[in-house]
Amino acid sequence: MDAKELRNERLAAKLIKSLNQRHYDAYYCRSNDDLLNKVKELIPAGSTISWGGSASIRDTGITQMLKAGDYRVYDRDDVNTQEDKMRIYRKAMECDYYLASVNAMSEDGVIVNVDGNGNRVAAITWGPQHVILVVGLNKVCRDVDAAVKRARSVAAPTNMARFDFRTPCQADGVCHDCKSPDSICNYISIQRMSHPAKRHIVLLTSEPVGY
Ligand code: SF4
Repeated sequence: MDAKELRNERLAAKLIKSLNQRHYDAYYCRSNDDLLNKVKELIPAGSTISWGGSASIRDTGITQMLKAGDYRVYDRDDVNTQEDKMRIYRKAMECDYYLASVNAMSEDGVIVNVDGNGNRVAAITWGPQHVILVVGLNKVCRDVDAAVKRARSVAAPTNMARFDFRTPCQADGVCHDCKSPDSICNYISIQRMSHPAKRHIVLLTSEPVGY
């Protein structure tokens, strides 16, 4: 094991302890294959599943794997109109499992998310029976202030770059705390604990995923 792997092992062990104290279920996945196997192990066949716009969930191959499996999947990418997407967002609220990433997490397990429509933070907060959060160790920050800073100054402008919206961060990659109607920073969630206990399952990954 090299120095980076060793540090990741130790950091993951510390995070799992902190997350358990906050009533999360949490696991460390040492590779992408580990991650896919863990997701498969956690979700029973026949479950209803949905997710938001997470790059992490897509980039890791989780969405493709679940769509090919024995599940009922509600994916907003499968529909074209805004009306149909809204229908999927509403359907997600009553699914057995919702998958998402986070924008940042403090070393003591507080989760920070920034959202434009609010459907993702709403589903993470309440609705779907279980929520699986995929968190690359690259998103772990010293404390809550640093996590909010990361979510707003790194994750949000990077996410924004995926879309063709008119916001100041589109021009220079830096957050200007804008009040643009196109802003994706309308809802900021700071999640202290999992409630009911173990409703949220955090899968920490050694490989950097998402923004
Ligand atoms: S400039 Fe606006 S949309 Fe861009 S990251 Fe900042 S608040 Fe969000």
